[in-house]
Amino acid sequence: MASTITPARWVEIKKDFPTLARTFNGKPLVYLDSAATAQKPQAVTDAVVAYYTKHTANVHRAVYELSAEATERFEGAREKLRKFINAKSTKEVIWTKGATEAINLVRYSVGLNLKPGDKVLSTLMEHHSNFVPWQQLARRGVEVDYVKVTPDGLLDLADYEAKLTPNTKLVAVTQQSNVLGTINDIRAISDKAHAVGAQVMVDGAQSTPHMQVDVQAMDCDWFAVSGHKMLGPTGIGILYGKERILEQMEPFHYGGDMIKEVKILNTRWNDLPNKFEAGTQPIAEAIGLGAAVDYLNGIGMGNVRKHEQDLTAYAMDKLGKDASLTIYGPRDLSIRGGVVSFTMKKVHRWSTTCTRRTSWTTTRTRATSARWRSPTSRRGRTTRCAATASSSSCSSTGSSG
Ligand code: PMP
Repeated sequence: MASTITPARWVEIKKDFPTLARTFNGKPLVYLDSAATAQKPQAVTDAVVAYYTKHTANVHRAVYELSAEATERFEGAREKLRKFINAKSTKEVIWTKGATEAINLVRYSVGLNLKPGDKVLSTLMEHHSNFVPWQQLARRGVEVDYVKVTPDGLLDLADYEAKLTPNTKLVAVTQQSNVLGTINDIRAISDKAHAVGAQVMVDGAQSTPHMQVDVQAMDCDWFAVSGHKMLGPTGIGILYGKERILEQMEPFHYGGDMIKEVKILNTRWNDLPNKFEAGTQPIAEAIGLGAAVDYLNGIGMGNVRKHEQDLTAYAMDKLGKDASLTIYGPRDLSIRGGVVSFTMKKVHRWSTTCTRRTSWTTTRTRATSARWRSPTSRRGRTTRCAATASSSSCSSTGSSG
């Protein structure tokens, strides 16, 4: 699909991000760490400030006008997120602190019902946040296994099918790898998991900011979103879950808005989504994330994806000309996002150089001579050095970056 945004318009868009106007050592800021956290457009900051300067009140707790305004903005943001990922209902959209907390919510609640002999399947291309929570279940006798990655950076689907057994209760997989940029075919993974009765937890931290996401089309059971990676504030994200499944799950935290009725010996949980939202929520951050969704919709996710594909092609072409570099991940841009990981002979990963500037934001490269190892290996970490316009990252295999 062709972009409907002209190159001149991309230059204008860059001006929406005040931090990108900064200079360091007399040079324009080159920011390529968007996969770690994205810069914020002014509209997001304005929405947060408006809550604190005009609409501050708690939500869901009162009928006075100020509280009604805050509630309307807070719930309005939830509806924006629902639409953005195409969930059926706002009951399926739970505010969390970020993608990590969303995954840990599922890990806690589902983990309560797992017993020795049950199996959880993750993959070797996960971020730590979708790896360690499952790994730790092994201490309780749950079998935890990991799908391998092929040399060209794809999930090894033959290995996946071989490891998927009737004992598999949950499959945890990323939609877009922060290590390799690989975009996984979640629908195919879900169909196979569901065929053996397993449920599917998808880490959408890197996909949601960069491509059109549709949780119904993917047919995943849970989907984790990170707000600060999609131009929103820090400390906010969402967990999407199918309503039927969320109804059956135990709450994660207790207290505050997640309670419907308390008696001395018993408590009834609130209706979805509040059942999973204990305590006062990050109201300003949720409203800010709603503004980020408006901003991304204004550009159009198709345009975001196309622009990133162009920049990724450019980065891979230029980096590919350097014989000392080995680039990882798929070459086919239809199945990769903007992260470009590479190793460079004889350069350590913290030897950082700033090299390129693109029309929207800029490219930072870091390199290392370390080689690919499994996420469980601390020695021999591989550096992924990402280089794209709106997305970049630099972290270790099985990374926390
Ligand atoms: N998953 C992936 C693929 C990520 O890249 C990240 C952040 N680097 C996370 C999860 C964690 O997200 P959050 O910071 O929202 O907890």
